[in-house]
Amino acid sequence: MYDFIIIGGGIIGMSTAMQLSEAFPDRRILLLEKESGPAHHQSGRNSGVIHAGVYYPPGSLKARFCREGNRATLKFCEEHGIETRICGKLLVATNDLELERMQGLWERTGANGLEREWLSPEGLREREPSITGVGALFVPSSGIVDYSRITRAMAETFEQRGGQLRFDQEVTGIRERPGEVVVRTRSDEFSTRYLISCAGLMADRIVRMLGRDPGFIICPFRGEYFRLPEARNGIVDHLIYPIPDPAMPFLGLHLTPMIDGGVTLGPNAVLALAREGYRKSDVSLPELARLFTYPGVWRMLSSNVRPGLEELRNSFSRRRYLAMVRRYCPELTLDDLQPCPAGVRAQAVSRDGRLIDDFLFVNTRRTVNVCNAPSPAATSALPIGRYIVDKVKEQVEVG
Ligand SMILES: Cc1cc2nc3c(=O)[nH]c(=O)nc-3n(C[C@H](O)[C@H](O)[C@H](O)COP(=O)(O)OP(=O)(O)OC[C@H]3O[C@@H](n4cnc5c(N)ncnc54)[C@H](O)[C@@H]3O)c2cc1C
Repeated sequence: MYDFIIIGGGIIGMSTAMQLSEAFPDRRILLLEKESGPAHHQSGRNSGVIHAGVYYPPGSLKARFCREGNRATLKFCEEHGIETRICGKLLVATNDLELERMQGLWERTGANGLEREWLSPEGLREREPSITGVGALFVPSSGIVDYSRITRAMAETFEQRGGQLRFDQEVTGIRERPGEVVVRTRSDEFSTRYLISCAGLMADRIVRMLGRDPGFIICPFRGEYFRLPEARNGIVDHLIYPIPDPAMPFLGLHLTPMIDGGVTLGPNAVLALAREGYRKSDVSLPELARLFTYPGVWRMLSSNVRPGLEELRNSFSRRRYLAMVRRYCPELTLDDLQPCPAGVRAQAVSRDGRLIDDFLFVNTRRTVNVCNAPSPAATSALPIGRYIVDKVKEQVEVG
């Protein structure tokens, strides 16, 4: 019997496994991942931004974990020889409405305790000659990294401490009984005292396997990117973000210098027709049937018709996609939009149609389940892992 089993080899599962193996050095710990290696899904298909914590409501888990995670990520990378760059982020206002919204972000960043600077159009041009706007908010503590490298380093640390990793092990069934949890995969069965699930796009399925109604469904939102040609690599030094609509802070295409030297554009957010639907042509009829028979999904879609259609149109038209970015970077042309792999976000939607904003955990007597961990969860992976370890310690103390 294992003491702890973790489901999911993304950054949250690996961070949890690594920190559990430190907190419980003598216990048997196993991590099960359905793919052939770590970070195959969200953790390996994201923008690579170490967020500072600009948008999140003060007091939320996102605000707290993002700030702690920003520092913890840098420290972890330094200790493990992983390259990072603190390039800072510019949130660029292109009209009066955005300038007004920038005031709101100025106040929020203050409430979240972030260092920031208000830039005039000239101040913006001085920092970024290719970017135009009527003003910008500069947040110096944002940076970039490769999160799949971090996930791999966490996996190595976990193994060095005696933890076991098993890939190609898809969990298909779970039974929680007095004193143990039985975990079935396609080929094996394992028994454990405690179970932690960090299953990303499959989070609700795991809760359902436990015989619980999760009260939400995971909605997969594909984020499509383009990559600029190599000749454009130096076009910006900072992360360039638009000022978002406060009701939809996760929407808005950004220009992102990547740690490999390239620059990406994106991502947008379109409802994917399969949970791991990285291409427009990926369709899963059973998943769609489940999604569209869930009451919250219709409510969520009907209250977001306009932005939803706008994102969809931009997805099918490179010209429209480009127009969004040219508002702050007018020198880009259609030829600059080169293909780049997409990612899919796992976003929990409640039964009453809300996009659940904060990180969400559902716990039972012997399990802790990460149910909503969208951006900035990669930045926040270390504090989230620590939080989970504390929850597990409470369960272990009860016996
Ligand atoms: C397009 C995009 C851009 C983003 N940009 C950023 C960013 O710049 N900065 C930031 O901080 N965050 C960003 N995020 C968010 C961040 O990437 C995710 O929040 C984070 O990676 C979530 O990690 P995870 O471990 O929960 O999920 P995942 O990485 O998806 O891992 C879950 C794992 O569970 C496994 N699994 C699922 N079901 C089973 C099962 N039944 N049995 C066994 N294994 C199973 C999956 O195979 C997967 O490997 C972005 C996300 C996307 C999609």
